[in-house]
Amino acid sequence: LKAAARAKEGDEPAAPGGGATAPGSHGGAAAAATGDGVAAVVAGIVRDVRQRGDAAVRELSARFDRWAPESFRLTEEQIVACLAQVDEQALADLRWCQEQVRAFALAQRATLGDLEVETQPGVRLGHRHVPIERVGAYVPGGRYPMLASAAMSIVTAKAAGVDHVIACTPPLDGAPPAITVAAMHVAGADEILVLGGVQAIAAMAVGTETVAKVDFLAGPGNSYVAEAKRQLFGEVGIDLFAGPTEILVIADDGADPEIVAADLLGQAEHGPTSPAVLISTSERVARATLAEIDRQLETLPTADVAGPAWRDFGAVHVVGGDEEAAALADDYAYEHVEILTADPRWYLERLRNYGALFLGEGTTVAYGDKAIGTNHVLPTAGAARYTGGLWVGKYLKTVTYQECDPEASVRIGEICARQCRQERFEGHARSCDVRVRKYADALTGA
Ligand code: NAD
Repeated sequence: LKAAARAKEGDEPAAPGGGATAPGSHGGAAAAATGDGVAAVVAGIVRDVRQRGDAAVRELSARFDRWAPESFRLTEEQIVACLAQVDEQALADLRWCQEQVRAFALAQRATLGDLEVETQPGVRLGHRHVPIERVGAYVPGGRYPMLASAAMSIVTAKAAGVDHVIACTPPLDGAPPAITVAAMHVAGADEILVLGGVQAIAAMAVGTETVAKVDFLAGPGNSYVAEAKRQLFGEVGIDLFAGPTEILVIADDGADPEIVAADLLGQAEHGPTSPAVLISTSERVARATLAEIDRQLETLPTADVAGPAWRDFGAVHVVGGDEEAAALADDYAYEHVEILTADPRWYLERLRNYGALFLGEGTTVAYGDKAIGTNHVLPTAGAARYTGGLWVGKYLKTVTYQECDPEASVRIGEICARQCRQERFEGHARSCDVRVRKYADALTGA
């Protein structure tokens, strides 16, 4: 019915601010989704911040964001001033939304119990979930004030027990974005810096004279931000490759075309290259949705973004049944997948590759993005093949421990020494031998 977004695989990333990696790059490696130009720019900025610290950060912020205040870190008074600019209803709403994220994150945290088992007599093995100590949370904001992202990365970090969260967001229209700062503060950020892009990511990862380095970076961003995190991974941990957004809707003959169209456009407005895909088992619904999209674009204030996104990167597939729809959706491995069919839970059982699933007409991607409580920092560009989104578990290190009684140590030591010698590690083997000798003698009373 419509040129498939899948055909666009391998396109160049769009201009910054449109913030895009290759759309429809399902199945492509995350790294491949970033153009060489972006990678080179990012590498240069990271090198500069590493070599020249604060002076480089200041120059880069002035160059990319026309922003070079005396200090990027907000004072208590500046935070209070931001809070005062936000009206009461907006503040109450953001508190409510953050509470939903906190409640779900804490419920997820409760599933991550510590473990200790006696795997054989005298051998005790265990694991513990230890929070990361220092986290840098990036809250994007070049195009829109993405206050919900503050909830997703900061509230979740605090629910995991992270000690210290530094949060960075770019300026908006030459000033601190009041509502985003309010959201970062309410979420529990320990430090708030109005600093955007690669210079923010690099400062948090490598440290400067005034920014103490973090252990882990979280939060989504445009293609520059996502590439910076990718390049710095190893030196710091990262949550995932969370780039420009994607939506896929699966609809059957009972789906409401007005809702299908609204949901597709609701994500297409993220950027002019944001892919929105419909897979339908009903040609009637597919055609009605196309007509609805044209109708809704006439009154959508963001039609200048959503229209080109839909025209150039949208796709509609009419398929023979649920099984075919599911296989195609798994192939796309998109960030958001909505199921508007008679039996959405069939897809819950069947689908494998997605960031977040929206079951039935009662919910929509916007609920998940802003208000319902699941995390909206989700894998894009095919990363859903190997990871889920940001969640409380990403801020926890699952670390193991072990303990062994003398008798068990002899049993294991004999086997282990032989294994070490197979690998030609004589030093390892002797660390086993010394135990076997010591405990065997003690056990036989020699
Ligand atoms: P952003 O904060 O990610 O990026 C803005 C920064 O980009 C600026 O501060 C600037 O320093 C830097 N920049 C701009 N042009 C540059 C250039 N030429 N060279 C180097 N640096 C440059 O904000 P944004 O651009 O609005 O993008 C937000 C992105 O986050 C969107 O693409 C959106 O889809 C994505 N997002 C993804 C998820 C997810 O879970 N996957 C969730 C929310 C948002």
